[in-house]
Parts: sequence; structure tokens; C-alpha cells
Amino acid sequence: MSLIDPFNRKIEYLRVSVTDKCNYRCGYCMPEQGAHPEGRHTEYLDYDELARIIKAFVELGVTKVRITGGEPLVRKGLPGFIEEIRPYEGLDEIALSTNAHHLDKHAVALKEAGLSRANISIDSLQADKFNKITRGGNLEKVLAGVDAGLAAGLNPIKFNMVVMKGTNDDEIEAMVDYGIEKGVEVRFIETMPIGEAGISLMDQHYPMEKIMKRVKAHVGTDLIPSTGKSHDGPSKNFLIKGTNARIGVISAVSDHFCEACNRVRLTARGVLALCLGQEDSVDLRTPIREGISDEDLKQMIVDAMLKKPEKHFFNENVHNIEFRQMVSLGG
Ligand code: SAM
Ligand code: SF4
Repeated sequence: MSLIDPFNRKIEYLRVSVTDKCNYRCGYCMPEQGAHPEGRHTEYLDYDELARIIKAFVELGVTKVRITGGEPLVRKGLPGFIEEIRPYEGLDEIALSTNAHHLDKHAVALKEAGLSRANISIDSLQADKFNKITRGGNLEKVLAGVDAGLAAGLNPIKFNMVVMKGTNDDEIEAMVDYGIEKGVEVRFIETMPIGEAGISLMDQHYPMEKIMKRVKAHVGTDLIPSTGKSHDGPSKNFLIKGTNARIGVISAVSDHFCEACNRVRLTARGVLALCLGQEDSVDLRTPIREGISDEDLKQMIVDAMLKKPEKHFFNENVHNIEFRQMVSLGG
């Protein structure tokens, strides 16, 4: 058994949201008042339930797992969870997406538990602006988290910057410089129209083409396309000629990248979401709690892949994804 969808795409990458709570409230991700009503404790899968689902996926050919949220570091016991899934045979890589606010405290434990790498969200290098974008974030803590992650040997670390016209587009060059200084790849992300929060910021959409032009002019040399692992999925990566520095661009809106989609998402409440930009999903929590066998769980996952849609419809109709929230889907 392996995971192939109706469009002959092989699914090898599972993104697992361990919580839909977050200590920040980025405008494109969460409404100001916070996410949908917080669930009761029992609505969330416990670590053993999450691990059981991940094991099934790995046995079906998934080689990479990314832990995300909400903010994964607000859930207690994350290193222990990583330790639990680390030995699964065939799982090559465990990655983390984080806002890094708490990374200074946890970097060493995460590395020792078996975390391979981390993507860190930083949308501004100016403390006041950072605080505004994240509605309360502390840039100093995040930069300390970056340094702790690098010192602990999380490798590679990548920075994710969501570029917003009139908000932080003046910092594209500064972010490239920070990436070069730290030896870290910077990935520029277009705002995606997901959930009320994402849709509300689409008037600040800043197209990838312009970002590329600005980066090129700033570094004053060519950007050489680099072919990464298939895991890179939607990110297009470039080496800055004459340096070891890289940049990446993720342009879900300007550029449909769905034909290369190799991933599905598991939410903290046990919903398997088959596409970031469509509603198709399958509930795994109920069968798990009703005692489904391992073999039947795997068959259910194989069958779920048949529901994976061909592509998202960000360009055609943003409103069909109004009720999904990025903070639950994990990015
Ligand atoms: N809290 C962690 C973080 O911020 O990295 C992990 C979860 S967050 C939902 C994952 C990624 O999704 C972040 O890089 C964030 O910038 C991105 N994201 C959230 N909402 C977005 C939107 N509407 N458009 C583009 N990217 C978005
Ligand atoms: Fe929190 Fe990450 Fe969403 Fe910002 S992008 S609100 S840090 S989950």
C-alpha cells in the first residue's frame, strides 16, 4: 500500500498541527479576537493518538513530517513527542514550523529528541512593526530563538517572511541581508486567501515577480535556480551567485504549484485536510477513539487520498475557503 492520489501524485509529506493555539495573532493567520472557540481538552488528539496516525502514514510511505500549529511550542511535552516518533522506520526527517518565541528555552531539548530542522516565521526586523504584525510579538525573543536554534545545530533553519504591501515590503532587502548574515535561507511567501484573516489581507498581496526583481537588484548578481528535494514542494529556490546564501519563494496565488503537491495535513483535532485551499477532509479522531485496527486505519488513509482535489481555487473564488483558518491548518 502507498499513498497515490487520483492525479498520480505520491504523498510523502505529512504536516501535523499539534495545537491550534498561539501566543501571537498574525493578521493574515488569525482574527484579532483569536481563533475559533477553543476546544475542550478532549477535542485535541493526545500525543499517543497523533503518533499512531503518523506511524500509519510512515508505513504508507511518508518520509517527512513537519510539526506545526498554531504555535507548536506552546504545547507542553513536544520533545517527548518527537522522541516517540523519531524511531519510525522510513521517517527521514522531522521538521518544525515555529514563531521561535520559545525556541531559546527548547532548542537543545528538541535537537536531542531528534528534530532535524526548523522554519522560523519573521515578517519584520523592526521591533515595533514586528509587534504590530504579530499583535503582541517580541522580536528580541524571536532573534534569541534563532540564535539558540542555530547554536543547537538545527540544520537547516529557514526564515519565512510573508510579504505584505505597505506593511513590510520595505524590508525585503533587510531580510536578505539578515539571511546572509546568519547563513540561513530566506523564503518569501505571498499572502494566501485562507480564512477570514487571510482574505482580509489580500489587498496587501505583493506578487512574487516584484520580490524577485527587488532581491536581484539588491544582491547585484544572478539568482541561480536550485533543484532541491521533492519535499521542497511549492518553494522555488535560488542560490545567490558567488555566495552560499539561498532564497526561496512560495507563490500560491501568482503561480499554481498544485501539480507538484506531495502533502496532506493533520489538524490538532484529528481532521485530515487534503488541500490547503479546499474543504475536502476526513475525520480520523472518531475512528481512532472507536478502536479502529491499525490495518483499517491505514486503509482509511489510503482511501482518503482519493478525495484529494486537483488544485486549489485561490484565484477563481477566494470565498470558498473563508471558513478554514490557517491557524488550524498549520500553514
Ligand atoms: N506558528 C508557526 C509559525 O508562525 O511559523 C507555525 C504555524 S503558521 C500557521 C505556519 C506558516 O503559515 C507561517 O510561516 C505563516 O507565516 C504562514 N501563514 C499563515 N497564514 C498565512 C496566510 N494567510 N498566507 C500565507 N502564509 C500564511
Ligand atoms: Fe501564530 Fe504562526 Fe499564525 Fe502567527 S502565523 S498567528 S505565529 S500560528
